Amino acid sequence: MKKIFYIAEIGINHNGDVSITKELIKKAKDSGFNSVKFQKRTIDKVYSKELLDQPRESPWGKTQRDQKMGLEFSYDEYLEIDKYCKSLNIDWFASAWDVESIIFLDQFDLKYHKIASPMIVDVNFLEEVAKRRLYTFISTGMSSVENIDKAVGKVTIADADVVVSGGRGLKGPENWHLIEDLAETLGAATACSKPVSDMGWRPHSEHVGQTGKPVASNLYIAIGVSGAIQHLAGINSSKVKVVVNIDPEAPFFKAADYGIVGDAFEVVPQLIKKLRAFKNLN
Ligand SMILES: Cc1cc2nc3c(=O)[nH]c(=O)nc-3n(C[C@H](O)[C@H](O)[C@H](O)COP(=O)(O)OP(=O)(O)OC[C@H]3O[C@@H](n4cnc5c(N)ncnc54)[C@H](O)[C@@H]3O)c2cc1C
Repeated sequence: MKKIFYIAEIGINHNGDVSITKELIKKAKDSGFNSVKFQKRTIDKVYSKELLDQPRESPWGKTQRDQKMGLEFSYDEYLEIDKYCKSLNIDWFASAWDVESIIFLDQFDLKYHKIASPMIVDVNFLEEVAKRRLYTFISTGMSSVENIDKAVGKVTIADADVVVSGGRGLKGPENWHLIEDLAETLGAATACSKPVSDMGWRPHSEHVGQTGKPVASNLYIAIGVSGAIQHLAGINSSKVKVVVNIDPEAPFFKAADYGIVGDAFEVVPQLIKKLRAFKNLN
């Protein structure tokens, strides 16, 4: 069974006060959450001058700017939060609202990024997040399926170091846990062949090849993919290619660096088991 990752949203509910933040973090930890999440905004980048100059009474002053600046933590305050989270063994991360905030967050050794729903159409922003190669959560409120697909494609396959890809040999979407589990074990992105996305087993953002996404990963593992020329066209720039296919005559074996002739339904669970055992040892 898959483990659920619980995130406690602190957002800006800390009122700009580190001691309130610590209380919230402690409550989250005691309630079994894996991580807490904040919002990080460069106020002058995210809001217009016109809005920021508008009057707004708050504990921090008389304008919108005063109120919004009052809710932003400094580097030193985040450092204190970082140390506190480490002492409690709970993760933290933040949804950045602009590229400067992504760069600000780079100063901490974070495992995750979060894309707020208004940002999923900002290609430049998505590419900046993708470059970090961290696990990324995407909020999808008010977004179209097309925009969600594009955003998922941006932050995953294109810049992924390792990609696990599935083809029609997987027989159906109900078997995709094999691809997902292997990908999770390797910290990889998932991808697929064109027919798989055409049949709706996977979103089009995962389709690799001549008519899909190019992949330039260090490792590309293809499971139950025949290796048609149109698929291979998308992975030319990938360094090491591995194929698992039941048919020793499948064209992918000619393009691959390593190949396993075997049934994906037997080979992949074994691979996952061995990799997990290896990871536990190291
Ligand atoms: C103009 C054009 C553009 C195209 N663009 C793309 C593109 O961008 N990307 C793309 O992917 N395709 C593209 N295609 C389609 C392409 O030609 C192939 O049809 C497609 O790549 C095949 O997908 P597949 O390997 O998943 O399926 P299949 O060709 O059906 O291969 C399935 C493979 O799974 C293996 N298998 C079956 N059972 C098992 C098992 N139990 N364990 C392990 N292996 C198993 C089989 O031996 C077989 O090799 C394009 C085609 C055209 C005409």
